[in-house]
Amino acid sequence: MTERTVGGLRCSEVLAQLSDYLDGELAKPEVERIEEHLLGCPNCERFGDNFGSMVVSLQRQSDRSEAFDSDLVSRLLSQIDQLNPES
Ligand SMILES: [Zn+2]
Repeated sequence: MTERTVGGLRCSEVLAQLSDYLDGELAKPEVERIEEHLLGCPNCERFGDNFGSMVVSLQRQSDRSEAFDSDLVSRLLSQIDQLNPES
């Protein structure tokens, strides 16, 4: 797949920061750029079913409650690893 730049980030840059994003370890401007990318990038939208929206909603859920499906996150991250063997 061809990388795209959306929200000022390339797909690989978003993927590299994805676990920090999900852990809530990124500053707000970085979070916003990643969300802009995930929601606006056709490549990232196609990971799994609406991968981008799923990741964003997961992260927002984790802000509000302790209920965080870490199994789902692990599966998402392993999917990403398969898509990006070099990372
Ligand atoms: Zn992307």
